[in-house]
Amino acid sequence: MSTFQAPKGTYDLTPPRSATFLAVREAISAPLRDSGYGYIETPGFENVELFARGVGESTDIVTKEMYTLTTKGGDQLALRPEGTASVLRAALEANLHKAGNLPVKLWYSGSYYRYERPQAGRYRHFSQVGAEAIGTEDPALDAELIILADQAYRALGLRQFRILLNSLGDKECRPVYREALQTFLRDLDLDEETRRRIEINPLRVLDDKRADVQKQLTDAPKLRDYLCDACKAYHEEVRALITAAGVVFEDDEKLVRGLDYYTRTTFEFVHDGLGSQSAVGGGGRYDGLSEMIGGPELPSVGWALGVDRTVLALEAEGVELDLPATTSVYAVPLGEEARRVLFGVVTELRRAGIAADFAFGGRGLKGAMKSANRSGARYTLVAGERDLAEGAVQLKDMESGEQSAVPLAEVPAELAKRLG
Ligand code: ATP
Ligand code: MG
Repeated sequence: MSTFQAPKGTYDLTPPRSATFLAVREAISAPLRDSGYGYIETPGFENVELFARGVGESTDIVTKEMYTLTTKGGDQLALRPEGTASVLRAALEANLHKAGNLPVKLWYSGSYYRYERPQAGRYRHFSQVGAEAIGTEDPALDAELIILADQAYRALGLRQFRILLNSLGDKECRPVYREALQTFLRDLDLDEETRRRIEINPLRVLDDKRADVQKQLTDAPKLRDYLCDACKAYHEEVRALITAAGVVFEDDEKLVRGLDYYTRTTFEFVHDGLGSQSAVGGGGRYDGLSEMIGGPELPSVGWALGVDRTVLALEAEGVELDLPATTSVYAVPLGEEARRVLFGVVTELRRAGIAADFAFGGRGLKGAMKSANRSGARYTLVAGERDLAEGAVQLKDMESGEQSAVPLAEVPAELAKRLG
């Protein structure tokens, strides 16, 4: 241990568990890459105003959770707390929406930062893989994203997750509902902060986790009863398309989600093995966001899946990912001459695309074989002076224990054959 530790609310990804994180990122992004989504990467920090406007002044993210800083040059920046605002900003800046091929479909993967109260599944640094489909209003696009997330979770082997679905209405019908809800909420017995929230973002009150608040919300007006005909038809179409794809979901009229910019389709993926931090991912349509950050009208939809919680979900379900062994061949030289020769063989194997490692540090046979075992390699190559004199190395199958001499020049071909 050094004098230092990972900052509060953060943790390091170290082998072997880190391999699972890579595999999860890969599994979530694979269906996107196969569906026309292009990779986008944006900076880890942005002008703080982008999030204030894009995520919303009334959200927990902006009021409490953002890491902000002033640069030496006087710029006000924030470490990114989420991906959507940055991705939209970048797409607008690069004029991707003007190329005439809407929707612009993008996927991303990276680190996000929120100053939260750390607990299991809730960290100050976490990672997400996300997708955004920008510039098109089409229920099939909302359905596509939900189906692709479902496909990703299933490919990972997750089964105990549920999809919650709702519609938040649009700029026609939501304001009417908002007022009706405010009128209802103002009569309830609520604390000061919640009362303030009624005035700024009343829908968020529906999301309150406290039982005494939830009890009072039983008779709250339902957004469903206020949806305009266009929103209703849109939502029915999304539901029909997901259903036709065989994806099971639950209608959840209380689902509002934390961000201000959502309109119409809203969804969340929850996992039942995670306790209170049950959301593994979420997303929805954000038709007004582009205009909020100074862009043109670009109706869009997207989601972000949390990598950390997805890994926890895999662990909760006891799913072991089928991770390929990182090393296929491990070389153990006995003596100086063998070290030079085997190092050359290892280089050659690697260039031929065979994952190979080497007993560095000139250790004895026993210690080196221990490392070979630990590496998970299927084969070891052992060579001493006598083998070299005969122009051969000992090739050992670590599974069967079988060992045979192979001429040096034939080692790469022999291993390629055996490893298929
Ligand atoms: P929560 O309700 O749990 O706070 P959220 O609504 O703030 O989640 P989003 O902004 O929708 O979460 O982010 C999408 C996903 O990113 C979440 O479903 C979750 O898996 C993950 N995530 C969000 N915040 C954290 C965090 N602090 N630590 C770990 N993962 C997180
Ligand atoms: Mg949150």
